[in-house]
Amino acid sequence: MTVIELDNVGRYYATTAGASITVLDSISLRILCGDALAIIGPSGCGKSTLLNLMGALDQASAGRVMIDGRDVAGLDDRQRAKLRNERIGFVFQAHHLLPQCTVLENVLVPTLVRGASSADLARAEQLLDDMGLADRRHHRPGQLSGGECQRVAVIRAMINQPAVLLADEPTGSLDHANASRLVELMVKLNKQEQCALIMVTHSVELALRLGEVRELRDGRLHPWRGGP
Ligand code: ADP
Ligand code: MG
Repeated sequence: MTVIELDNVGRYYATTAGASITVLDSISLRILCGDALAIIGPSGCGKSTLLNLMGALDQASAGRVMIDGRDVAGLDDRQRAKLRNERIGFVFQAHHLLPQCTVLENVLVPTLVRGASSADLARAEQLLDDMGLADRRHHRPGQLSGGECQRVAVIRAMINQPAVLLADEPTGSLDHANASRLVELMVKLNKQEQCALIMVTHSVELALRLGEVRELRDGRLHPWRGGP
């Protein structure tokens, strides 16, 4: 089943001089249920722009972005927000947890729009358990390590059983051991729940833990052929 489809997607920005710069140029891509794709590429090449388009956080300048078979351009703000909340999980380099809330409360935030159920609570507890955070559920983010906070951010992103988890340099602030563990856990969830995983990373070593690696260069996605 196709979860996300990009059809000749372009993203251009207008410069103050009235010209336009092309960040993404005619990208076509199909993400199926359960896929695991890593995207690598130098800083500023458009990785975040691409991920934001795939997550309906931004809109394409050209082409079509389909999520669950629905053209994102045809949705209003409310419909897009609903689609993101129900179908897409996001993790960024910074965890963006609410400092005044406990780990468990943070994890349940995406369920609040529809009212957290006892099933949500059970799922939260289960995921915290699986991620080695069971004894941390009543702690606040300030009492956790960076690696633990990112694991909580992944659980929060996964709580609504999204069709896809989009991770934009999720290990960017972590040491090697914590980065490795985070990717291992994301891949485990990807397999267990058949949730597609798309991860942007600077680390070739971490990228290779996913099923497929592509390089974003000159506004296009290329198969990655190894090398530095
Ligand atoms: P990456 O995530 O690969 O580091 P980004 O997707 O953040 O790259 O940015 C790609 C390019 O698009 C950069 O040159 C950046 O300056 C430019 N860019 C991103 N957002 C905007 C914006 N809102 N307006 C103008 N240029 C932007
Ligand atoms: Mg980026």
